[in-house]
Amino acid sequence: MIQGADTADQYGVVGHPVSHSWSPFIHGMFAKSTAQNLVYRLFDITPDNFRREALRLFTGGVRGLNITLPHKQAAAELVNELTPRAERAKAVNTIAFFEDTSLLGDNTDGLGLTADLERNLGMTLADKRVLILGAGGAVRGVLAPLLERELRELVIANRTPDRARNLATEFADMGQISGCGFGDLRGPSYDLIVNATSASLHGEMPLIPAGIVGEQTICYDMAYGRGHTPFTLWAKSLHAARTTKGWGMLVEQAAESFLLWRGIRPDTQPVLEALAQHS
Ligand code: NAP
Repeated sequence: MIQGADTADQYGVVGHPVSHSWSPFIHGMFAKSTAQNLVYRLFDITPDNFRREALRLFTGGVRGLNITLPHKQAAAELVNELTPRAERAKAVNTIAFFEDTSLLGDNTDGLGLTADLERNLGMTLADKRVLILGAGGAVRGVLAPLLERELRELVIANRTPDRARNLATEFADMGQISGCGFGDLRGPSYDLIVNATSASLHGEMPLIPAGIVGEQTICYDMAYGRGHTPFTLWAKSLHAARTTKGWGMLVEQAAESFLLWRGIRPDTQPVLEALAQHS
């Protein structure tokens, strides 16, 4: 947005696909509420072109980028420096470009998810059994913040089981974590199941057994959009305690990116309320 687009600082989000993103709307609201003069755009860039095109954006004047699927790991290799949480994740969802021409990579996904679960949904994570579906860039960002909550158990299940197992090994120093394929999942039911696959974006549902959902299970789809996703529909049919989508995570991680870029953390509540009308 916003005032004086010709003098406004440039930001945006890079992904493939990216047209579904609500980040321009969210950052537009943040900019207005904090009186920051900036524009925020969508950049659809394929994996083959990511490095070249991202660098071209920065040399062309862009001061910060959000990075979404499937580029988060490539972004960690692009930057000159990583924040400790991005270093741990080996995945980056926020890049800041400084005047000395250095690029700093951060990862705000974990804070986004935990803030939404704890602050917005009122959940206590300590001693909970948690299942994460998927082992891509988004999962890398949320594992450390979840394990810091002293979960009883964290299981990662993925379509390609080795990616889940390797990720579990990488984070084994932080707590009780294991990886497996979808077909290996068994009851008893989990307290929280997070769908962090990109299956919902294609209208698909990971092939997981029903016995892992009970009446106390909260089912969280990181994907967002209007109405139900295949995952939230599936969870509802199994009488999960609650189903929810990733709108809150999206807004909370965006606020943290905004803080890195502009030095101000915007109030997320008005944006959450505005987005509730679209979900
Ligand atoms: P990514 O790095 O491309 O990883 C995609 C993951 O989805 C991989 O684990 C992949 O499994 C799995 N997958 C893809 N299609 C599948 C299918 N049809 N059935 C089962 N598994 C499938 O993507 P990402 O960056 O981690 O993002 C994942 C999802 O989280 C996306 O929907 C994204 O929009 C969402 N997200 C939301 C927020 C938010 O703020 N709400 C933040 C980050 C991400 P394989 O390893 O077998 O390929």
